[in-house]
Amino acid sequence: MPEVSCDLSDRLFIVNVILHELWNMLKDLEDGPPFLCPKCGRTYSHKCNLTRHLRLECGVGPRFQCAWCKKRFKHRHHLRDHQRIHLYSNCTFELRN
Ligand SMILES: [Zn+2]
Ligand SMILES: [Zn+2]
Repeated sequence: MPEVSCDLSDRLFIVNVILHELWNMLKDLEDGPPFLCPKCGRTYSHKCNLTRHLRLECGVGPRFQCAWCKKRFKHRHHLRDHQRIHLYSNCTFELRN
């Protein structure tokens, strides 16, 4: 008889551990940012941020390319800043074709 009760309490202990882990998992899901990027796994707390990320960042190569050195930039103003190097440097690339 004592063996049975001991066995039972062991099982209860395991059930408790499992329940505790499940609870923690649920809590993590609840607390974590709800919007997950399906491509890279980044999470965002607002859907608009995820949408922007997908549209502009994730899996999308930088769209703005420097005509001189072919470097690419994600943002137009970064390209503009970069191109100043060419415009004001003595060592300019020739812009052809
Ligand atoms: Zn992503
Ligand atoms: Zn350049």
